Amino acid sequence: MCKPCCLLALTSANEWGYPDLDSNPNEPFPKWGGLCDTGKKQSPINLNSKGSLKGIFEELKFENYDEHQTALQMVNNGHSIQMSGFNHDLTLSGGALLSDFVVEQIHLHWWSEHTMNNERYPLEAHIVHRNKIYPNITMAANFPDGIVVIGVLYHMSSVANEAIGSIVKSLGAVKSYDNINQPTKVADSLSVDDLIPRVSSYFTYAGSLTTPTCAEAVTWIVLAESFPVTSAQVDQFQEIEYEEGKQLHNNYRELQRENSRAVVLVEQPDANRSGATALAGLSTLIMLPLLLLVRKILN
Ligand SMILES: [Zn+2]
Repeated sequence: MCKPCCLLALTSANEWGYPDLDSNPNEPFPKWGGLCDTGKKQSPINLNSKGSLKGIFEELKFENYDEHQTALQMVNNGHSIQMSGFNHDLTLSGGALLSDFVVEQIHLHWWSEHTMNNERYPLEAHIVHRNKIYPNITMAANFPDGIVVIGVLYHMSSVANEAIGSIVKSLGAVKSYDNINQPTKVADSLSVDDLIPRVSSYFTYAGSLTTPTCAEAVTWIVLAESFPVTSAQVDQFQEIEYEEGKQLHNNYRELQRENSRAVVLVEQPDANRSGATALAGLSTLIMLPLLLLVRKILN
């Protein structure tokens, strides 16, 4: 029989973690249990421009993303830096989405989780959205249409990223282990669309959360274009502590099997072609199940 102390230990924030690749670059990725080990639609995966299906859908619509967020809270949860507390509903719709999705939180991974054409980027932002038909993110995680995550990859550059810079400015208040799980106000005002300057094309596929419980509830939208960040900015994230005196130098999950899932590369239509592309989008939707079937037979 387990004593209460064991239960407490099992539910502590750091019951799961990432391998310490600085100490041992070959350290195997830990087993997180449950769906993380047994799921068939897990994330992240490698996104390959050549191997993807091509799709055209109506344009994604971003509502209120340009609003300056003045009350954002930031927390070091021992696994990442996470921000929440948006002024108004930031609502995503359009594309192949069948309902409206609202931003719940934003967090970052240093070294990207998704790789693009087998290349790993130094930083990936995850903008986590909940389907508005579900009352909260925990409930949404139980349904295949529950969550949309926009993934944004950043490449190393000598040009500083202003939006990431706003986040970095507040890291000092949360990076120490003493401050773990204590939210603090983000000092700089930040508008979320500064993190996603352009959406000209994106990869989309059905996948999972990349942290336990690894729920297979996520429609991924990973932008095909990356944006600049400096190594000095990325270094700041790597100073986050997850244990007393231990810095979180990497927080990306290893790549998962694709398992004959459809990965669609979507080109955003030009505004002046919207009539024609809406029709093309419809035919892609109809064609997708057929293409999947053909792919399964060929495999
Ligand atoms: Zn994430």
